[in-house]
Amino acid sequence: MKIIDKILKREEEGAPYWSFEYFPPKTQQGLVNLYDRIGRMYNLGPLFIDVTWRWGGKSSDLTLEICSMGQSVYGLETNMHMTCTNTSFDLIKNALAEAKENGIQNILALRGDLPRGVNEEDATDAQFRYAVDLVKYTRREYGDFFCISVAGYPEGCASPDDVEKDILYLKEKVDAGADLVITQLFYDVDLYLDWVARCRKAGISVPILPGIMPIQNYNGFKRMTELCKIRVPQEVWDSLEDIKEDDQAVKNYGIELAVKMIRELRDSGVNGFHFYTLNLERSTQMILEKMNFIPKVDEIRPLPWAQPISDKRA
Ligand code: FAD
Repeated sequence: MKIIDKILKREEEGAPYWSFEYFPPKTQQGLVNLYDRIGRMYNLGPLFIDVTWRWGGKSSDLTLEICSMGQSVYGLETNMHMTCTNTSFDLIKNALAEAKENGIQNILALRGDLPRGVNEEDATDAQFRYAVDLVKYTRREYGDFFCISVAGYPEGCASPDDVEKDILYLKEKVDAGADLVITQLFYDVDLYLDWVARCRKAGISVPILPGIMPIQNYNGFKRMTELCKIRVPQEVWDSLEDIKEDDQAVKNYGIELAVKMIRELRDSGVNGFHFYTLNLERSTQMILEKMNFIPKVDEIRPLPWAQPISDKRA
């Protein structure tokens, strides 16, 4: 099923909904742990799950495998990420065909980061320079079969100076056939709401899901926000300063901060929330509980039939 149909239904009802992003682990044990986790987090009621695609398609087999498992074994609607630059045409063509064969009806069409010193003109395949090219290709080859989501950047893709330009390109992706937008993580709710208003003014009318990343530890948070050039309000840095050596205290603060952000977003009429889980479950579970989106879960049991089946990973 297309996730856009589920989203539109929730939006019509004004009911809250949420989705979880996972990434393909690098080890076999990591994969076993991830499947266990997906099984347990099934009980948290995500509307859909996302699986990332390692840069240049390096994890395409594993991404596809986890998506197929999510879809067919766990019964979760699954959104498969795909990047298109720095990736061979055959890989893109085959991944879409295999996704369809495996009952995956949702993709997140991305350009992907460019290798250092490379620009769009050096794309591995000249027809795929930007995410919009993958949206167009998928629509041309598969018509309406796939629900296509695309990435949005409240603080600009490469730089805050690019926000207006990025909105125009986001509109281009939607006009080419994207059904919804999932955003980069952010920690400034006012900035996010202002960006959504600017997108709406630019004529982007599809659902926009805010990306929520609960803080898991101080160094990871600092690294990630610097890498993605995310503005972190000074009060967040101030709150973290005294507890930064205490991982549990940082996690607890991250839960409270996410709850505060989601409350503010709910008050502004936002219904859907996309969690960057980093393949971890507790913070997301606690946030959903504290928001009263789900009842308190004392013990989440893995589904007995949800067992990993593959050792395909390289
Ligand atoms: P695009 O929309 O193509 O934009 C890239 C840049 O080009 C922007 O600066 C834009 O302004 C500019 N641009 C766009 N169209 C045009 C045009 N027609 N002409 C000129 N300039 C243009 N990366 C991964 O490797 N794997 C993942 O699984 C992954 N998942 C992600 C999920 C989300 C929700 C987000 C927000 C990002 C994700 N990324 C992932 C990161 C993403 O690949 C990078 O941020 C990448 O640099 C941009 O991808 P994009 O699809 O937004 O590109």
